[in-house]
Amino acid sequence: MKLRERAILTEHGQRRVILSSSEVVHLKTIAIVGGGPAGATAAERLLRSRTDVRVLVFEERPYWEKPCGGGLPYKVLERYPFLLEAAEPHFLTRDCEFVAGNGDAARFTMRRPLAIYSRRVLNGLLLDRARQAGAELVVDRVVDLHRTSERPGGEWELRTPQGGRFACDLVVIAAGGRTTLRRQLAPQFTPDDLLLTFGYYVPGSADLLRVQFFDGFEGYAWAFPRPDHLSVGIAANARRSSMADLKQRLHSFMEQYGYDGKEAPIFSHVLPVLSRHSWKQMKLAGPGWSLIGDAAGLADPITGEGIYFAMRSGELLAEALAEGAPYTYPRRVWSDFGSRLAFGALLTHRFYLGNFLGEPCTTRMIQLARRTTAFRHLLQDLIDGVVSYRTLAPRVCWTFVRALGEMALNSFGGPGPLGTARTDSSLRSE
Ligand SMILES: Cc1cc2nc3c(=O)[nH]c(=O)nc-3n(C[C@H](O)[C@H](O)[C@H](O)COP(=O)(O)OP(=O)(O)OC[C@H]3O[C@@H](n4cnc5c(N)ncnc54)[C@H](O)[C@@H]3O)c2cc1C
Repeated sequence: MKLRERAILTEHGQRRVILSSSEVVHLKTIAIVGGGPAGATAAERLLRSRTDVRVLVFEERPYWEKPCGGGLPYKVLERYPFLLEAAEPHFLTRDCEFVAGNGDAARFTMRRPLAIYSRRVLNGLLLDRARQAGAELVVDRVVDLHRTSERPGGEWELRTPQGGRFACDLVVIAAGGRTTLRRQLAPQFTPDDLLLTFGYYVPGSADLLRVQFFDGFEGYAWAFPRPDHLSVGIAANARRSSMADLKQRLHSFMEQYGYDGKEAPIFSHVLPVLSRHSWKQMKLAGPGWSLIGDAAGLADPITGEGIYFAMRSGELLAEALAEGAPYTYPRRVWSDFGSRLAFGALLTHRFYLGNFLGEPCTTRMIQLARRTTAFRHLLQDLIDGVVSYRTLAPRVCWTFVRALGEMALNSFGGPGPLGTARTDSSLRSE
């Protein structure tokens, strides 16, 4: 069946799609494979707007400590305020330090906090909300998908290792970056689409969030404080780095700042971030199936931030399903955040390996952030994930002009940002 839709303009000038009843896809049972941020959010949001569907969430490891920094920038907290209000333990920080490949550093207090969750806690919180909304949790691994009908809307049978069989009208793959279930639905990820990660859950506590860049390296190391430990790790493009290189860089970062990994549990995982090429041929949905979150490769290619996009893609799919129009989901993703991520994929290489005024971009930004509020705000917006990658280059130029003004003012002894940014020597003595 060819699905047609009609666009109307609302009185506020917004484009809204309306469907005739013959075009609405009727779904009774929806199976979501994966109960992480993407799957749990999709289930919860769908069930809050539709009570006439059955939603099964298959999760092989509910409430587990998924390898992750667990950092939730302000835009996540703004859209999902329950994350800020939750009684579950999480850490709120405003103190951050960026360190350049040559050791130059900028430490400042962020205008907006970053929340850091252990993933065991975050996954539990989101999964509980989905269950409260009516989702049925099946604690099992889906090992196979089998199409039993070619009718639009699709009909599937899901299989579990002990011979369990579950029928559904629509299957949502929310099973993260390592899943093999997407194989029969969409092109496989290539090494260009993956970040390699490695790290430690270091016992102890700290207030400072620290990010370190390295010259000639397409990635970064981080130390994110959590309520009772720190997530200390490193991520870089899988085609252009090796695990040995990641380990060596992370260990020198840990040694320099005194993060003790001797007794610390280790983590390692892949994080899919679609390359420019993959964005061109990406497939987010087809008859009877959809991909959300990491399973779709929806993470920020520059920062590796993925929790927001996992939750948001789950929410956008839920909205499309609630309207009986699952095929509108890819377009919703593209206009909501997909085009921004695709543009980011164009810039990643230049961001990490390019030069700005004779220094690596990251080094120059940190040097300028140490001296000017204009660049500190730019770094803050990068952490918050609100920088428009389409306008990043002009924004850097415009920020540089403002920064020159600030530095000129400071050189006349007026009140300025230098008082709030610490110098390298004071940083190292802490
Ligand atoms: C080291 C590292 C650090 C990161 N740091 C950050 C950060 O600080 N901030 C941020 O925003 N993002 C970060 N990310 C990205 C973030 O972790 C992911 O983008 C996010 O978890 C994606 O959510 P998801 O629900 O799509 O997938 P996942 O969180 O991977 O959830 C998928 C779920 O599916 C389950 N599953 C898998 N296969 C099956 C199956 N066959 N049957 C049943 N269940 C199955 C898994 O058990 C898992 O719980 C980081 C990623 C890594 C690897």
